[in-house]
Amino acid sequence: MRDRHPPSGSLVIYRARLRERAPSVTERLEGKPVAAGTDEETQRRVRSGPTGAPPPTLVSVHRATDSPFRFYLRRQAKAAEALGIRFREEALSPSGDMAALRTLLAGLDRDPGVHAVLLEHPLPPPFDFLAAIAELRPEKDVDGVGSTNLGRLVAQRPLHVPAVAQAAIAIARYYRAPIEGEPVAVIGRSETVGLPLAIALAGRAEGMSATVTIAHSRTRQLGAALARARTIFSCVGRPGLLDRTVVPEGAYVIDVGLSSVPDPASPGGSRPAGDANAGSLEGWAAGLTPVPGGVGPVTVAKLMAGVVRARDLMLASGANR
Ligand code: NAP
Repeated sequence: MRDRHPPSGSLVIYRARLRERAPSVTERLEGKPVAAGTDEETQRRVRSGPTGAPPPTLVSVHRATDSPFRFYLRRQAKAAEALGIRFREEALSPSGDMAALRTLLAGLDRDPGVHAVLLEHPLPPPFDFLAAIAELRPEKDVDGVGSTNLGRLVAQRPLHVPAVAQAAIAIARYYRAPIEGEPVAVIGRSETVGLPLAIALAGRAEGMSATVTIAHSRTRQLGAALARARTIFSCVGRPGLLDRTVVPEGAYVIDVGLSSVPDPASPGGSRPAGDANAGSLEGWAAGLTPVPGGVGPVTVAKLMAGVVRARDLMLASGANR
């Protein structure tokens, strides 16, 4: 691993060395095998739950509008069914406001038949995401996005960690993208995706301890910010943001971004797209996660694993019998 550390000398020499070992073919970092490993373990834990224990139950709360979250919801339903997890959706009525959302979440928090709750994010004003999620006890905040769970992540005592952050890290580790002790970059600093991912990467957990640069919309010269990164995690939602003008040659790109782009050839007239321009990065990046088929399926698998953990936490606390 030590030879993977960039030299302390100039950036020019470092980039030249990266170029020397630049791949002619960019590895496609598929999420499928990573998700399958997680699902196997989840299935085992669902089956081996305490006798008479209720099936792990997830409720996804969303605005009934067209957004990338709708795509995610369909995948949740399918995965839950395959894994023996009970799943249902709760749609906020179109006229629903913050008070209605709080009442709904408080009810789910009290419901002993519900172990895990996921709230769509980001939520536009007038919704206050953090205030809404505070209606849930940390054990039911399965995506780890409430203040208590985020605080525990910072304190290196995680309870639930956002599924997308777990997924991005799992995929990077599976394909041996450089992380430990290495310069990595996270683009995006939302409280639910970019920041928790950056905190986890910089944390002390096994295989982490990356040296993390965080870029965002106010970053001047994205290319300069990414120049030393050996692995780049992009969490923005802007198709085409990453091409070979900003990604250093030989870097791994974990594309977390998910947007819907018009495509007359696709059913429904649109298709999902990540932040990376795959054509530009082909033969330049060491590896790239496809969209769809990269981080997405692993996020769903990590979410489902979290539901089983939430069920076990609730049982251990005696709250859900
Ligand atoms: P978000 O709240 O809109 O945050 C986007 C972030 O990108 C912000 O920090 C923003 O900076 C930054 N940004 C915007 N334009 C930029 C630019 N030109 N250069 C650099 N940074 C820029 O979105 P989110 O909830 O964090 O989600 C991020 C993406 O991940 C979305 O596409 C979402 O759909 C996707 N996602 C995917 C999965 C999955 O499983 N694949 C799961 C969850 C989310 P500022 O903070 O300065 O505004």
